[in-house]
Amino acid sequence: MATPINLGFARIGAKRELKKAIESYWSLKTTAEQLLSTARDIRKRHWSWQSEAGIPEPPSGDFSLYDHVLDTAWMFDAVPSRFRDLNLSGDLDLYFAMARGVAGQTATQALEMTKWFDTNYHYLVPEFTGAENFRLGRNPQVEAYREATALGLTARPVILGPVSFLLLGKARQTHADRAALLDRLLPAYEELLRSLAAEGAVAVQIDEPVLATDLDDAARALLTKAFTRISKAAPLKILLATYFGPLRDNLEHALHLPVHALHLDLVRGLEQFDDALQLAPKSLTLSLGLIDGRNIWKADLTRALELAERAADRLSGDRLMVGPSCSLLHVPIDLSNESALPPDIKDWLSFGRQKLAEVVTITRALNEGRSAIRAELDANRDSLEKRRRSELVHNAGVGTRLRAIRNTDFARTKTFDERKPLQQAALGLSLLPTTTIGSFPQTEELRRERARMRKNEITAEEYEGFIHQEITHAIREQEKLGLDILVHGEAERNDMVEYFGELLNGFAFTENGWVQSYGSRCVKPPIIYGDVTRRGTMTVRWWQFAQSLTALPVKGMLTGPVTVLQWSFARDDQPRRDTCFQLALAIRDEILDLETAGCKAIQLDEPALREGLPLRKTDGPEYLRWAVDAFRLATAGVRDATQIHTHMCYAEFNDIVESIAAMDADVISLESARSQMELLEAFAGDRYRNDLGPGVYDIHSPRVPSSEEMLGLLKKALAVIPAERLWVNPDCGLKTRAWQEVTPALQHLVTAARSLRQILSGKAGRI
Ligand code: GLN
Ligand code: ZN
Repeated sequence: MATPINLGFARIGAKRELKKAIESYWSLKTTAEQLLSTARDIRKRHWSWQSEAGIPEPPSGDFSLYDHVLDTAWMFDAVPSRFRDLNLSGDLDLYFAMARGVAGQTATQALEMTKWFDTNYHYLVPEFTGAENFRLGRNPQVEAYREATALGLTARPVILGPVSFLLLGKARQTHADRAALLDRLLPAYEELLRSLAAEGAVAVQIDEPVLATDLDDAARALLTKAFTRISKAAPLKILLATYFGPLRDNLEHALHLPVHALHLDLVRGLEQFDDALQLAPKSLTLSLGLIDGRNIWKADLTRALELAERAADRLSGDRLMVGPSCSLLHVPIDLSNESALPPDIKDWLSFGRQKLAEVVTITRALNEGRSAIRAELDANRDSLEKRRRSELVHNAGVGTRLRAIRNTDFARTKTFDERKPLQQAALGLSLLPTTTIGSFPQTEELRRERARMRKNEITAEEYEGFIHQEITHAIREQEKLGLDILVHGEAERNDMVEYFGELLNGFAFTENGWVQSYGSRCVKPPIIYGDVTRRGTMTVRWWQFAQSLTALPVKGMLTGPVTVLQWSFARDDQPRRDTCFQLALAIRDEILDLETAGCKAIQLDEPALREGLPLRKTDGPEYLRWAVDAFRLATAGVRDATQIHTHMCYAEFNDIVESIAAMDADVISLESARSQMELLEAFAGDRYRNDLGPGVYDIHSPRVPSSEEMLGLLKKALAVIPAERLWVNPDCGLKTRAWQEVTPALQHLVTAARSLRQILSGKAGRI
């Protein structure tokens, strides 16, 4: 008998119940007991959904109040000393202190946060000094297992594997040796497994997602050591879960680890399927990740079933499991909560609960024969066929236009050196131009008016009048501050992707399609279901209004094609590259319309460019090629005198600086204040030759830096970038800040730029 499984479920709740409970606890409106009781209710509900769907051993321990990597550190007592010294009243507050830091006189910094592999989920980075005494300090796993048992369920505990845990962490102070750390860590894992077995567990899932990344021999040896040890710790059947990509050079190694079963992501890693079937030892059960845990499309059941049947031909039925490709953490919970999606489109989708039904359907066909699911297969084929043929999806004009793209469409007609003087003349620029990244504070009032507009409580004209007021305010402030290139302030935008998605064809929006981003924060990614076209101009009227108020140049402001793609659920019926190019063409039209309206500087933000990098180094160049091409396709249609800006947020740029240079934006602004300009090193020498604005104002903090401090940062920047190519700007957009912080901070920024101009012209001081 093949078994249907699930690797993990979303925690946040179908209507974000957990978010609300956590934030209410943080703001002291509710007690710890109330929070824990809501969390229990959510777990109970999610377990019952899973078991009703037909998953016999739903996962336990996959829930978290913040993040599962933090939970692992917490469980094994890897609590950095700065938190231990805090003397907080309760355990829960210590846990949240690690997640969020503690404000106060001697502020305690939270654990760092970073992206969970190539998803949009963020985990907290465990810190290792090398002197840890890992121990099973707390046992939330046994508690969760008991909770499930009390509900009459047999759960399969899900545990982050020891090697992934260590490799995801970072060694502070000392370069703690991974092998030595593993030796210290394994006894704690052994104890955990023994405690679960003692509780009655028969199987556990241990996740080692690092197996889908580039590993060296030493790291593979750590896996062997870890699994050899923990497989002997207790009589538990271990399901080793891998996901997010094919194992490639790690496949053979993984197949021979001493575990009961190995889970493979066959959505992203179908290429490993045949090898896995061939090479799997006789004793190994294979778990087939056939249903996409990263995207929201209905599965092709016939195709998934064919794969499952091929596996069943080679392995006997009881050596087979069927599941989603990865945890369902990365998709919204329940499609049935969507009432506003166009019915045609809704029929093509599948969220967490629907995906479990798909898993169970495939497994039934394996166990009972295809005839048992005839109706489901027919309905599925029918729905897929409708999607394939739908006029909502296909727009012949888009295809024609894509095929007609020529090489020259990707390139500006003149080189940067030739363009620069033309642009300086057009914009009236001199040394060290000052500008901002685009958004100005989104006030309470602004959010309120937008909500009222959406509820039809105010008319479109009233809303527009309100936005005009905001733009006017932003322009007047910037003029007073003495900035050189102004922005309209993005008051009309709720979100830099959603705003454009709503104005483009090919996008759909959900009411409850929330996915956890980090902690209590969720995002509701748009769904790109069809060929992308522009219904009309998207930003021109706001820009025009702003420009009508001032003689200074106002920058046009757009989100780049790669970022829109990265932060949406993308089509799975064509390569991501194609979707990205479609977006690029729509944006290209908008850029040209801005230019025609008289806009002389246009910024295309690409904060997600780097995060789109694939997990494996060897896959990087291909992605970067089309991502850079998409940017160039969007921007290269402008005249030489039109200045193209781009912006990227925090990122290590060292390994991609050639690609950034290849984008050929005239100016790039980056976050660099927080790193004290360290990030700039990547741009030294002639690796990058265009203009650059390293942020001198850290907008993530309410602190207002002095002009001396910003001047200091600018002087540091001069060591890398010559003054003729240097811009002066904040780290990022200002929408999360308040005007009373922004106004003085920008005043200091302009003062710093002016002082440096004076110094450089020899009129004051020396560098
Ligand atoms: N233009 C956007 C803003 O200023 C850029 C934000 C971003 O890159 N994250 O808000
Ligand atoms: Zn930014």
